[in-house]
Amino acid sequence: MTAEHSLRPLPTGTDTEIAIVGGGLSGTLAATLLGRSGYRVTLIDRHPVFPREFRVEKIAGDQIDKLRRIGLLDSLSAAAAAFDEIVNVRKGRVLDRTRARHYGIFYDDLVAAMRAELPETVRFVAGRVSAVEAGSERQRVSIIGQPDVTARLLVLATGMGDILRRDVGIERRFVHQRQSLTFGFNVRPAGASAFKHTALTYYGERVSDGIDYLNFFPAGGVTRANLFVFREHTDPWVKALRDRPREMLIETLPGLLDTFGNFEVIDRVSSWLTDITVAENCKRDGVVLIGDAYQTSCPAAGTGVSRLLTDVERLCMVHVPQWMASPGMAAAKIATFYDDPMKQAMDERGLELANFRRSLTIDTDLRWRARRQVHFSRRRILHEIDKFSPSFAARLRGLKRPQVEAVT
Ligand SMILES: Cc1cc2nc3c(=O)[nH]c(=O)nc-3n(C[C@H](O)[C@H](O)[C@H](O)COP(=O)(O)OP(=O)(O)OC[C@H]3O[C@@H](n4cnc5c(N)ncnc54)[C@H](O)[C@@H]3O)c2cc1C
Repeated sequence: MTAEHSLRPLPTGTDTEIAIVGGGLSGTLAATLLGRSGYRVTLIDRHPVFPREFRVEKIAGDQIDKLRRIGLLDSLSAAAAAFDEIVNVRKGRVLDRTRARHYGIFYDDLVAAMRAELPETVRFVAGRVSAVEAGSERQRVSIIGQPDVTARLLVLATGMGDILRRDVGIERRFVHQRQSLTFGFNVRPAGASAFKHTALTYYGERVSDGIDYLNFFPAGGVTRANLFVFREHTDPWVKALRDRPREMLIETLPGLLDTFGNFEVIDRVSSWLTDITVAENCKRDGVVLIGDAYQTSCPAAGTGVSRLLTDVERLCMVHVPQWMASPGMAAAKIATFYDDPMKQAMDERGLELANFRRSLTIDTDLRWRARRQVHFSRRRILHEIDKFSPSFAARLRGLKRPQVEAVT
């Protein structure tokens, strides 16, 4: 991709056209797209190199299409482990197989691969931002121990723990506190040279276990496990899982060893408690929120990256060019991003899927008991039809696409 216009002189009193605070996936992708379009961008993150933190580790489905569309899929595929089939299992029996390209990658490697694509028009500043000020003409970013950065537009891509939004009067509404728990750890085969499958999803067996699913997949030269659970974080099972992951998984998912093979857990179990939050009162002069800073996602629903890619694409390809074409950066301009129907539909889908995964896993009312039964039976039947008539199975799948396909 080439710059669409040459560098313009900076407006009086600003150091850069666009300041982006937060160089995780959202901020880095936004900086790359805006930089490639010829804007002068300053990207600020407290980490010169993103540390090994537990976030998304599997990229699939619409995320791949979106990365391809913005010209960054090759960078992902060069850094990630590609695999094309996931065997989906429930109660020790194969439910179906997901045949599609997936990429396994640790989040720090993903951010590093994307940061390597930052064009020269992007200045990267390593530092902790202590305060931000926003207005209809000029934005100011204060960085500890470094000169302030001033810009025409401020993008906050500061993730879940974002507090800087408070400086500009933006609130956060809890949609669902402690909505889900996610665990991540590495495994290796025990008593065999390889596992039975490259990638496997094992669904929870009983509602009382609160397990949505356990994924095994290749990433960073190891087999990675991600476990998605709807339980209270204070539940003794949670502590036991952290202390004795292998024993607890074998006890809770009795068919696991037979379908995947014996395994050892080879590192510490990482865990993450997710609150689903949405920013409020965000139509403000000069500042826009993207990615988790705007809305967080349920990891089990696998929509965090789809959401942030929609934010980045719509912001950088549609809205920023319109905003920068005329003087000022008043709230009325910024509002067009939050009112964007494609963004709103994606955000809504993220919330819907978060509820869907939780209810499918743990709701015990009659409606959800029936829905759970239909959901898994339907998948099993389609898998059987697939064996003798893949085209008929594909037609049936197309009639009503199961929501679960978004994650596996
Ligand atoms: C355990 C877990 C599993 C997940 N699994 C999936 C999945 O399977 N599929 C999926 O699609 N999504 C998943 N997600 C969601 C996905 O990881 C996130 O939506 C995505 O990483 C958000 O990226 P971001 O850039 O918005 O935020 P982050 O990656 O958190 O980046 C925020 C950045 O802001 C910087 N920052 C913050 N404050 C300051 C400051 N004051 N000064 C300077 N820098 C600052 C931080 O250093 C950080 O680099 C998962 C999330 C978690 C937690």
